Amino acid sequence: MRAIKLLPVVEALKRGKRFAIIAHISPDGDAIGSCLALANFLMDHGKTVELYCHDAPPESLAFLQGIQNFVRPGENGESQAHSAYYDAVVCLDCSDEGRLGDAAYLLKQTSCTINIDHHATNTMYAGINVVEPEASSTAELVFDLIREMDGDYFSLAAYEAIYTGIATDTGGFGFSNTTPAAHRIAAQVIEYGLDVDRLTRLLFRNTTLARVRLLAKVLDSLEMHCDGRVTFLTVSKAMLEEVGLDENNTEGMVNYGIDIVEVECAALFKEAEQDKTKVSLRTKGTVDASALAAKFGGGGHARAAGCLINAGIEKAKGQILEALKCMLE
Ligand code: 5GP
Ligand code: MN
Repeated sequence: MRAIKLLPVVEALKRGKRFAIIAHISPDGDAIGSCLALANFLMDHGKTVELYCHDAPPESLAFLQGIQNFVRPGENGESQAHSAYYDAVVCLDCSDEGRLGDAAYLLKQTSCTINIDHHATNTMYAGINVVEPEASSTAELVFDLIREMDGDYFSLAAYEAIYTGIATDTGGFGFSNTTPAAHRIAAQVIEYGLDVDRLTRLLFRNTTLARVRLLAKVLDSLEMHCDGRVTFLTVSKAMLEEVGLDENNTEGMVNYGIDIVEVECAALFKEAEQDKTKVSLRTKGTVDASALAAKFGGGGHARAAGCLINAGIEKAKGQILEALKCMLE
């Protein structure tokens, strides 16, 4: 079934020579890993690939081959280009056009737009949409795509990128999206020679002193609500400044909230630009995180979702709390 869905993508990528691949804003391991796996694969098959992301990839993924090739939209001078500049533009792990950020205009520079994703909230914004909410990660779909295109393909670099996407999106093969398929792909790439200990260290056990100091501040901000069923964590600009880090250094921190036994919803509120707050949501039990995020124009999955609220941190907290009170009843 998935092979049939992927067929138009296989045909477009075999036919074309020049592609753009886009990761979502504030890219995570799945977005970056998916893009790099596909880019490495296509380049190994003689194609030209340009990689785009609205934001710089996280430093922690610097070990992935080709990551330095990501450019911000507009930096290639491609903004003047015509509607057939690319043979196809491929969006990976992007649930809607808003997630493309400033890269969204690239969709106009081709007659063939491709959207490969695993978010149930995907808006099917491309010409070819392969959206599989039961897939653990977009990287899993890219692995299947690569297998469909060339069953004999071998590249440790591409498989490290695939493993990065699956391992990070499943929280180290621990979240509810950890499927047999995710384990089967991991098993295959380990057979190919992937070093699990090295990847685990690079992906999950490589924090910095500054990050630990930030974590101490974030944990100190912890608030409990709704009789201990809800926990809020805060990341202010001042906290980031005090430890000398930018806002891309908070990954995983919200889990300290949701890991508290009786907590059903944890939210991390991060001060963004003027009067905007980025909210990361994690849930267990009855609350659907993506439904909560959707009330504020965001999205994601049942257990992990996010949104950007047009208000300062304290107002954003009030709004989330209001919405949560209804959902917890
Ligand atoms: P995180 O909290 O780790 O940034 O994101 C958790 C999940 O929610 C990810 O699957 C991510 O793609 C999704 N997500 C986070 N923020 C947003 C947002 O503003 N809009 C949408 N549609 N999804 C988001
Ligand atoms: Mn993903």
